[in-house]
Amino acid sequence: MTIKKQALLEQIMADIVSNNICPDLAREATNLVMGDGDINASIVFIGEAPGKKEDELGLPFMGASGKFLNEMLASIGLDRGSVYITNIVKYRPPKNRDPSKDEKQAFLPYLIRQLEVIQPKIVVTLGRHSMECFLPTQKISEVHGQMTQINFNNLEIAIVPLYHPAAALYNGSLRATLIEDFTKLPKIIDIQTNEKENI
Ligand code: URA
Repeated sequence: MTIKKQALLEQIMADIVSNNICPDLAREATNLVMGDGDINASIVFIGEAPGKKEDELGLPFMGASGKFLNEMLASIGLDRGSVYITNIVKYRPPKNRDPSKDEKQAFLPYLIRQLEVIQPKIVVTLGRHSMECFLPTQKISEVHGQMTQINFNNLEIAIVPLYHPAAALYNGSLRATLIEDFTKLPKIIDIQTNEKENI
């Protein structure tokens, strides 16, 4: 099962390359950043796009916001390796600019395929861009930390929108809000999963 999932994820990565998705981003990028963590996890964290460090290493959330994310995961007893972490856009936008609407749209089918393979029960969106893929009409200031059950391309998923760790890093009140929202996750995980393995 795990080997099959791994092969399917590798195929998605190969398809992004062979379908020449976002060639302008690809040309500037060092790596295509697919994801990291447990491909059998019940909980997937989705950010917006790789930054400099992520592009260098080929892994999501490896810089300052990744360190903060790891700390928040640890604060609720979760190891980074026990969850799955990815981004909407898989190549670094130049100078870390926000991903464009077209770039998010171009990568969405591949994010959907990733979720179809992993089959998470819970998706935690990190930041507005990621939230808007799942809850396009919501405002993050109004729904952060709240779970919404949705049917997303025939997947039943509990979406939990959170602020982006990078936005919260240097803003004291957002930081406190994000840390508090993280403390709500264990209960949501408990409700959504009957078993404790692979969360
Ligand atoms: N910010 C993101 O949204 N994703 C990363 O992988 C790193 C920083």
